[in-house]
Amino acid sequence: MTTPVNVTVTGAAGQIGYALLFRIASGQLLGADTPVKLRLLEIPQGVKAAEGTAMELEDCAFPLLAGIDIFDDPKAGFEGANVALLVGARPRTKGMERGDLLEANGGIFGPQGEAINAGAADDIRVLVVGNPANTNALIAQQHAPDVPAERFTAMTRLDHNRALSQLAAKTGAAVSDIADLTIWGNHSATQYPDVFHATVAGKAATELVDQSWLESDFIPTVAKRGAAIIEARGASSAASAANAAIDHVHDWVNGTADGSWTSAAIVSDGSYGVPEGLISSFPVRAKDGKWEIVQGLEVNDFSRAKIDASVAELVEERDAVKGLGLI
Ligand code: NDP
Repeated sequence: MTTPVNVTVTGAAGQIGYALLFRIASGQLLGADTPVKLRLLEIPQGVKAAEGTAMELEDCAFPLLAGIDIFDDPKAGFEGANVALLVGARPRTKGMERGDLLEANGGIFGPQGEAINAGAADDIRVLVVGNPANTNALIAQQHAPDVPAERFTAMTRLDHNRALSQLAAKTGAAVSDIADLTIWGNHSATQYPDVFHATVAGKAATELVDQSWLESDFIPTVAKRGAAIIEARGASSAASAANAAIDHVHDWVNGTADGSWTSAAIVSDGSYGVPEGLISSFPVRAKDGKWEIVQGLEVNDFSRAKIDASVAELVEERDAVKGLGLI
C-alpha cells in the first residue's frame, strides 16, 4: 500500500466538516488508490463532537482510511499535513462589525498559517473554505513565509458549480455540456459569474441567453444562492460546500479535464489587472499539481466593471487586515 496522505480538516465537527470527512475517507478527494490519514482540528469545545464523527468514520470501515487523530492545537494538527482544508472560521454574528469579523478570523488563520509554516509537509496544499475565505487565505499565507504562496487557495468552486447548474437549467442542457464558465473576484456577494466565454454543447452561451437574464437573474441568483438555501433549509449549505471542496482539491491534485477550465481563488500574479498577491478567483486549469490562470481572454466592458468591483472589495479587505496588524 502507498504511504497515506495526511489530510488536516479544521472545523471538523461542523456541518461542512460532517459532509466532507466521509467523502475524503472514501477516496473521493484524492482518488481510489490513495490511502488517507485524517487529522481533525477543532477548538476545545468542538473536540467531543469531532470524537463522535471519528467514531462514525471508524464504523464505515473505509479501506482507504489509514487513521484518524483529533487535535485542538494547530501546531499538532498541521504536523506533516499534505492537504489542509480550513473550514472552521468565526461566523459573523448579529451586530458584529466587519473589523471585528476580520480580527476574530485573523486570530484563527494567523496561527494556522504559522503552524503550516512550521510543520506541514513540503508539498502542502491549502484550501480555505471558512469565510471571509479569500482574506482568511491571505492571512494564513502571509503567516507562512516558507511555503510557496501558490499553495494557499480559497474556494469559489461552489459558486462555479452553482453557475453551471443555473446555466444548464436555463438552456435545457446537461451540466456536462457546459464549458469555460468563470467566477472572478471575491467569494462574496460581489463575485462575478462570467458566461462570456462559456459554451453550451459547443455553442456560445451568449447566443442562448440575453443580457437582461444575466443581469437580473443569473448573476444575483448565483451570488445570493447561499442566502436562498438558508431561507429554504433553515440552515446554511453544507453538503454542496463540502462537494465543492472535494472538486477543488481533486482537480488541483489530479488535473482539470483537458480543454475546459474551472474557477479557484489563487494568489494573483497580476493577470487581468488583479493586484499581485491578492487571493482572487480566476479561470484556472490544474496541471502537474499546479493551478495556472487561463491567459488571453478578452474582457468586455461589462465584465471589466464587475471584476473591478469585486477586486476593489478584496483590496479593501486586505487593507483592513493590514490596518489591524493581522498581516
Ligand atoms: P459550517 O461547517 O457550516 O461552516 C464553516 C465555514 O464555512 C463558515 O465560515 C462558513 O461561512 C463557511 N462557508 C463557506 N462556504 C459556505 C457555504 N457555501 N455554505 C455554508 N458555509 C460556507 O459551520 P459550523 O458552525 O457548523 O461549524 C464550524 C466548526 O468550526 C465548529 O465545529 C467550530 O467549533 C469550528 N471552528 C474551528 C476552528 C479551528 O479549528 N481553529 C476555529 C473556528 C471554528 P459563513 O459563516 O459565512 O456561512
